[in-house]
Amino acid sequence: MRILVTGGAGFLGSHLCDRLLQDGHDVICLDNLFTGIKANLAHLRGNPRFEFVRHDIIDPFKVEVDQIYNLACPASPPHYQYNPIKTIKTSVMGAINCLGLAKRLRARVFQASTSEIYGDPQVHPQPESYWGNVNPIGRRSCYDEGKRCAETLFFDYHRENKVDIRVVRIFNTYGPRMHPHDGRVVSNFIVQALKGEDLTVYGDGSQTRSFCYVDDLIEGFVRFMAQDKHPGPLNLGNSGEFTMLELAQQVLKLTKSRSRIVHKRLPPDDPKQRRPDISLAKKIIKWEPVVPLEDGLKRTIAYFKTKV
Ligand code: NAD
Ligand code: UDP
Repeated sequence: MRILVTGGAGFLGSHLCDRLLQDGHDVICLDNLFTGIKANLAHLRGNPRFEFVRHDIIDPFKVEVDQIYNLACPASPPHYQYNPIKTIKTSVMGAINCLGLAKRLRARVFQASTSEIYGDPQVHPQPESYWGNVNPIGRRSCYDEGKRCAETLFFDYHRENKVDIRVVRIFNTYGPRMHPHDGRVVSNFIVQALKGEDLTVYGDGSQTRSFCYVDDLIEGFVRFMAQDKHPGPLNLGNSGEFTMLELAQQVLKLTKSRSRIVHKRLPPDDPKQRRPDISLAKKIIKWEPVVPLEDGLKRTIAYFKTKV
């Protein structure tokens, strides 16, 4: 197949491009390089089955493809809050542009949604049936509500226009090719530990997250896209749950760093706990993560050692 990956120069997108090429497909990567970098795709230069197009997904685009994966959107809180209006436009207009294209081409279209649509959850762990607890007017809303609106658009195009959709709710994923200045917790802690700088734990560090290694996630994307029965939404993530203090201690241990842990102000609306209920993924795509946190962190640390 010929497959379009929007946001393909970013962390997840570049791994997805690799996987689709390995599987024998042709790949067109569309990205405006806001948080993505060409270095993530440097190894694909000269590959006749790969094309890079610099384009902003807010503007309509025309390509002839069999499938679309829509990943274009800044994902780390400092990046998506840098220009919040642009973030919500990217989610909403990007979804409309992808769905319009999919409708014309009769192409299957995938949306990279997020666990953020559950907000600061009052149901734990979070199943797909939970509607969430999201502040509509806070600092995180441009991302959370943008992604919620994108899901609405996906399901309306599905119901109204029979567009063949697949919606995945991604829980915190980490791995090589996260940008050293990305700002998310795993890359922050690793870069800080390797540089001998203080590890910045926001708040008291008792808030929890569940961390999925990138290879596990991409396997889930491809399996879900290949099945014909379920449009989603589908949770994908690792069900191991850790506090940010535990994560900081683990990173210190694995890097053998002598950095200290310091506490910084907790950002507003920071979710207190998060863990995916992945029963549906287990059932319909026989998927569950296989890379434990310690192994994934070791691989990610090895990558960052070459970058910092
Ligand atoms: P990332 O910031 O590394 O990648 C996002 C990519 O989208 C970048 O290459 C960026 O340049 C591109 N982009 C941003 N705005 C664009 C625009 N207007 N037009 C074209 N390209 C644009 O982040 P990531 O972690 O790879 O996230 C990829 C997708 O997965 C995002 O949609 C994100 O919301 C979603 N997601 C990721 C996680 C995670 O833990 N990594 C969790 C939930 C959801
Ligand atoms: N966090 C932290 N130190 C950092 C970056 C993040 O303690 O340097 C915390 C943040 O407050 C949140 C958790 O780590 O509770 C995960 O943050 P991240 O930005 O990675 O993702 P999200 O909040 O979107 O899940």
